[in-house]
Amino acid sequence: MSTPPLPEDFLAHLGSLLGEEEALRLKEALLQAPKISIRYNPDKPFAASHGKRHIPWTKTGFYLDERPSFTLDPAFHAGAYYVQEASSMILEHALHQLDIPKGIYLDLAAAPGGKSTILSSYLGEEGLLVANEVIQTRAQILKENIIKWGLGNVLVSQNDPEHFAPLEGFFDLVLVDAPCSGEGMFRKDPQAREEWSLEHVALCTLRQRRILDQAATLVKGGGYLLYSTCTFNQKENEEVISALLEEFAFTPACIPLDPSWGIEESRFDTEEGQAYGYRFYPHRVEGEGFFFSILQRPESFGTRAVKSKKEQRVSPVKPIGDKEGQTLEEELGLDGKGCYYLFQETLFRIQKSFSKEVETLLRTLNVRYLGVELGKKQGKEWIPSHEWALSTLPKSHFPSLELSKEEALDFLRKKDIPLEQAPLGWVLLTYQNLPLGWVKKLDKRVNNYYPKEWRIRMESPKD
Ligand code: SAM
Repeated sequence: MSTPPLPEDFLAHLGSLLGEEEALRLKEALLQAPKISIRYNPDKPFAASHGKRHIPWTKTGFYLDERPSFTLDPAFHAGAYYVQEASSMILEHALHQLDIPKGIYLDLAAAPGGKSTILSSYLGEEGLLVANEVIQTRAQILKENIIKWGLGNVLVSQNDPEHFAPLEGFFDLVLVDAPCSGEGMFRKDPQAREEWSLEHVALCTLRQRRILDQAATLVKGGGYLLYSTCTFNQKENEEVISALLEEFAFTPACIPLDPSWGIEESRFDTEEGQAYGYRFYPHRVEGEGFFFSILQRPESFGTRAVKSKKEQRVSPVKPIGDKEGQTLEEELGLDGKGCYYLFQETLFRIQKSFSKEVETLLRTLNVRYLGVELGKKQGKEWIPSHEWALSTLPKSHFPSLELSKEEALDFLRKKDIPLEQAPLGWVLLTYQNLPLGWVKKLDKRVNNYYPKEWRIRMESPKD
């Protein structure tokens, strides 16, 4: 199938944005192959075999010289890294540079989860992230990526931004990585070229304003609102921020950038004074097109109580009492800082310090996943969940067995693997010490518990 050409109206607009000569350079860059980059999971170290050319605005991001088969790399399935284009990793730089206080964060348009994994790593044990996606199929992909990343500090929800209305002033940080016309993705995603039109840009602008109007109310006093798109036009970027600042009191924030990175700082006048946007152009930066802006809510806004009890739902997820939770913490060799929830007889664990907020969120949102799913306990016996295997929580209860790459791939293909050396019972399988999942060794066979819907279908190439 041939790649559709860059849209005429888009090219005409580029000239007014950048000047004719630079517009031409951008056009050429958009006709080249996209850069491949990954971001390592700092909580799942392993002996990486990928190239190591650092993305300068991150600690954990690297460019690869060519695209490997990620499907045939067990470390990818273990959540040891996330494949993400380089520009969007600026979020990591902003969090660290502004030293944004940890707490309760919301990623309002989160699927497939790239930026959520950055937020989850930044928060560690000191925060809770609500990763939300309105579209059901995309919420499922988001959930899988959060499970693979494995930090256990995320609640995944599937809600329209309007459903967050009762949570006014609840969040320390809200990220809106908005659905947009995708001009910055023209070389990575040819479909974006087909879908683009001036009408689509106008539609995206209206939708972005609607989402931001809701998102702005959710930030507590002193908290941050981050906005990003992967498009170049000002209508979906600077103009959306200006419109927001006409309605809500926020202070624009800026971050230090090294000029050698090639990121353009766009300064623009708004009712709240000068605001800043960071523009990534593929002819200047090794990454895709991107726009990023940071706003801070004045301290005087304080925190609001959760509104309107009658809108709240009865959650099917039930908290487990403190005493029982403590017993589980001791049994699992954990630090005593976890609290537990039960859903359809399955146990979930999350940091105790956020239990009050979790209960509010359970009553307000359509929650699809919470913390770490541990599994079921039947008497003294655990039936461990795959999610526990992929989490960074200890699994010292169970013996583990290190696999070769081909054995690991067969496990991920859900094939029968002999594992004569394995002890009887539940065994955690690892590759380069990265947990991959469970098998149960019986007298005469080994049951492979890799989730059916996650299994890989690709065979290894013959030598
Ligand atoms: N943050 C994601 C990441 O880093 O992987 C990418 C998010 S993508 C740019 C925008 C997301 O917004 C999509 O997943 C899309 O389904 C979702 N979306 C679409 N319409 C929406 C709406 N009306 N409100 C909120 N989100 C919406």
